[in-house]
Amino acid sequence: MDKLFSIIDSLSAGRTLNFEQFEYLVSHRSDEGARLLRTHAAAVRDSIYGKDVFVRGLIEFTNICRNDCYYCGIRKSNPNLQRYRLSEAQIMYCVRSGYDLGFRTFVLQGGEDGHYTDAQLCDIVRQIKTEYPDCAVTLSLGERSYESYAALREAGADRYLLRHETATKAHYEKLHPPEMSFEHRMQCLSDLRELGYAVGAGFMVGSPYQTPADLARDFLFLQEFRPDMVGIGPFIPHTDTPFKDMPAGTLEDTLYYLSIIRLLLPEVLLPATTALGTIHPLGREMGIQHGANVIMPNLSPTDVRKMYMLYDGKICVDDDATDCEKCLDLRLEKIGHRIVTDRGDKRTATEGGASYDL
Ligand code: SAH
Repeated sequence: MDKLFSIIDSLSAGRTLNFEQFEYLVSHRSDEGARLLRTHAAAVRDSIYGKDVFVRGLIEFTNICRNDCYYCGIRKSNPNLQRYRLSEAQIMYCVRSGYDLGFRTFVLQGGEDGHYTDAQLCDIVRQIKTEYPDCAVTLSLGERSYESYAALREAGADRYLLRHETATKAHYEKLHPPEMSFEHRMQCLSDLRELGYAVGAGFMVGSPYQTPADLARDFLFLQEFRPDMVGIGPFIPHTDTPFKDMPAGTLEDTLYYLSIIRLLLPEVLLPATTALGTIHPLGREMGIQHGANVIMPNLSPTDVRKMYMLYDGKICVDDDATDCEKCLDLRLEKIGHRIVTDRGDKRTATEGGASYDL
């Protein structure tokens, strides 16, 4: 049998792949192979989650950041950006309006902004969990100390998103300035896991200098670490960054990798990201059709959305939360899926039935 198809077969059967097989999968994609992978990935997702799509209300509460990641629009060296931070009252306003729209998970995401102390952040988490005990709180605040992660967990945070960005140290160093370290990023992920968070890792597709070998190591890392959530989206250049002239990641690559990740980690919570919706008007729908099962609409106040520009052309910056909710409802309905009002915790294969038919 053709080598590509035998690797796809192994992956679909739940067998572990090695570096060479992942690299082959990445560098020898064929249309037929991609179609088969997608069919398997959608079937596996359906067997566990059906047509349910979980939504997370994303609250981008600060664009102030101490880091200088070469790819990111809110890096500290970007002078052409108006900076903002939301107050506790503004954050709670977003949560309340999100709850009324049916959101049961709130994601607090921001730059690494030293202004917010652990005590303040814990307060915000506690307030959300007290007012809405039926909701999950996800944090995406970058790298922090073990003690800080522990305090936030203690305050009630359920999940944490921290993309590893790349599992290759040399590649990591091409994307980040010398003061950031690959080892520390990985340490943070293992600290979060140890503290009992549901943990999200991930990477950008087509980030500058990324090779098939780097991607193979990303998949090996995911296979071994087994995160509960995986966030991937195309790299999109931002005009005010050192990578402004680098090419964006592609739709085809992103969709292919979404299918690979669904098969690698059948139960994983896998978003069709805003970046995917930015490079193609139907990117998120296609993401769902390739195995994703999560969407993260923006709940941030409309007046600050334009300021949380990680990359050029970000979508939905002129809408408000109600518009986003309605628009997504409709988009998903068109492809035979539905948004569910649910915390959207990871389901296990046995709850939905582990087997699937093509
Ligand atoms: N400070 C937090 C949140 C970062 S923004 C943290 O460190 O986790 C969330 C994600 O956006 C990043 O992890 C990165 O993978 C992605 N991102 C940043 N710049 C991007 C770009 N130019 N194109 C696509 N994705 C980008």
